[in-house]
Amino acid sequence: MEVKVAKFGGSSVADAIQLRKVKEIVESDPQRRYVVVSAPGKRFEEDSKLTDLLYLCKTHIEHNVPFHQVFQVIWDRFKIIVMNLGLQLDIDPYFEEIRDHLQKGVTNDYIASRGEFLCAVIMANYLGYDFVDPSGIILFSENGKFLPKETDQALREELLKHEKAVIPGFYGTRTDGSVKTFSRGGSDITGALVARAVGAKVYENWTDVSGLLKADPRIVKNAQTIDRVTYKELRELSYMGATVLHDEAVFPVREADIPINIRNTNDPGHPGTIIVSEEEARENRGVITGIAGRKDFTVIGIYKNNMNSEVGFIKRVLSILENYNVSIEHLPSGIDTVSVVIATKALEGILDDIVEDIYRKLGADTVDVHQNMSLIATVGHGMTRRMGVAAKLFTALASNGVNIRMIDQGSSEMNIIVGVENEDFETAIKAIYEAFVEKPQE
Ligand code: ASP
Repeated sequence: MEVKVAKFGGSSVADAIQLRKVKEIVESDPQRRYVVVSAPGKRFEEDSKLTDLLYLCKTHIEHNVPFHQVFQVIWDRFKIIVMNLGLQLDIDPYFEEIRDHLQKGVTNDYIASRGEFLCAVIMANYLGYDFVDPSGIILFSENGKFLPKETDQALREELLKHEKAVIPGFYGTRTDGSVKTFSRGGSDITGALVARAVGAKVYENWTDVSGLLKADPRIVKNAQTIDRVTYKELRELSYMGATVLHDEAVFPVREADIPINIRNTNDPGHPGTIIVSEEEARENRGVITGIAGRKDFTVIGIYKNNMNSEVGFIKRVLSILENYNVSIEHLPSGIDTVSVVIATKALEGILDDIVEDIYRKLGADTVDVHQNMSLIATVGHGMTRRMGVAAKLFTALASNGVNIRMIDQGSSEMNIIVGVENEDFETAIKAIYEAFVEKPQE
């Protein structure tokens, strides 16, 4: 039988009501044999994620403040879940053990991992699945470097022994047995690793949105869902601010050519977004897949007569920025000009020094600094070799009164990036969306 791996995020396991939905989803498809869970997340806007509360216990200890109150809040949340689900499961011994460990001194990673651990214990009991602890299976080196090959083998060997299993997300262990977590949101990575290890037909990532949207819903009301997106497009979109998935979760499944399906636990009938490799995505594509953008970039424009004939000029510009440990987003250039686009935050406190260095070391004639620029990426394999896409985009912006300050098209023709004033950001995204998604025929 083919296998699906279903990973449920924090909002999907926030309380007993959500866990019931999870059970229904899992049981509605016998292929959903491996389930990965996050720690319970927020139940409402002002609520706290359990992982944050667990870190808070540790912070209390570090500052010699009693941690018992926070610890009790965590304990109670889990107890209420168990009670509301009517499970015959005694979780007190787990909490007593964790409390002992806390008192003796534990690492941040150990305490943070207990949210996923306990959630998986409860979920396994509720579903009647085996519980598989990733300790000694998801492996990190002594220095904390993730070990993909060793993990893949160990996970496969272990999971083969279980017809159906629940695996806590977010952590594994170092070679010395100590707990090591991935970075925040890392249960997505665990899900991808499990999917790869069992050769899943699909990696389902269940969350609280019905997939990736064609534009930020805070800017475009009722933005449509992206049905299919390639890994490359996803990378472009998420780099520009559209995130649903931990960045590193893509690699294990992409290598194994396993599609990821983003689904909504609160709307399980919705097909969500499928993330696939290029080949599969070719057919029936619209011109664009999605629009994403980020605010607050600075452009440093450098002018020098005869720059084009000066060998190594750009290299020297880059090395000045390297000296300040600043990374560059874009580098549009003209004959005697080159501009560097940098996230404004990265220039805090060093902008004047950089400008001075550019004058002094490069003999620039003028250096202009423009702040408050936004970058907007219009992304889609469908744009490749299609005429008139850029014209349509620029017309849409011009007719909405948006001045374009920079244009950059990747050589893959998969995206067109425009730089606009921060104050035009929302108008520009709406205009592009309208032109390509709402009125594509015009
Ligand atoms: N619980 C962890 C976090 O809040 C990991 C996860 O949810 O993926 O970051």
